[in-house]
Amino acid sequence: MMTSICAHLQQIIGSIDQTVQQTGRQPGSVKLVAVTKTVPAILVKEAMNCGHMLFGENYLQEAQEKISQLGHGARWHFIGRLQSNKCRDVASLFDMVETVDRVKVAQRLNEQAESLGRRLNVLVQVNIGEETQKSGVMPEETKALLEVITTCSSLNCHGLMALPPYFDAPDKSRPYFRLLRQLSEQCAQKELFYNNQQVELSMGMSGDYVAAIEEGATIIRVGTAIFGARPPQGVTQ
Ligand SMILES: *Cc1c(COP(=O)(O)O)cnc(C)c1O
Repeated sequence: MMTSICAHLQQIIGSIDQTVQQTGRQPGSVKLVAVTKTVPAILVKEAMNCGHMLFGENYLQEAQEKISQLGHGARWHFIGRLQSNKCRDVASLFDMVETVDRVKVAQRLNEQAESLGRRLNVLVQVNIGEETQKSGVMPEETKALLEVITTCSSLNCHGLMALPPYFDAPDKSRPYFRLLRQLSEQCAQKELFYNNQQVELSMGMSGDYVAAIEEGATIIRVGTAIFGARPPQGVTQ
């Protein structure tokens, strides 16, 4: 019997493929990060049993508990607010850290990745709506942060991530998705990424991922549409 998690995943993958095709982009050019904050390990396991292997977590401790229960078959992106005293564990546990937003955190992650003998994939989180309560580097400070990261020999910065202001209508997010893409193009022109021919843009969530793909997202982060509604205070950025 197919579970609802499998059905939701199939539905989303179907609409990703359709949008990719309609916009003339390469098949397989959009990755789906299934966001598992507050989702118990047994349900994450269900997603793994349906063949999904890429997940996102916001909280280190919660991720550590789940990953130790689930083994290391899956890949994990860290998508939460990053504290510099958590950098060691984050650098060892995650395949990508999407939320690098200041020099201190970049340097700490670099030191920790170096001492672990690994290269860590990162994105820079941009506060694209310039909202006071949100994390992320301000758009006009993004290039300076990327310049610092290019000197961090154990970090590979693949692109930008953003969590735009929340709207009930996906079309209202489009201007922010566009701003993020334009910023990434300017940064690629200055060769500030690890691979400037293939820059990752992590944007779009349950309510607006189709619009995000149309505007150039290469990574979408979807929670509710796969696992159902979270208890209140689930979104904390
Ligand atoms: C929770 C969260 C998501 C997923 O949000 P949904 O609306 O449940 O799809 C995506 N990105 C970040 C950074 C989040 O914290």
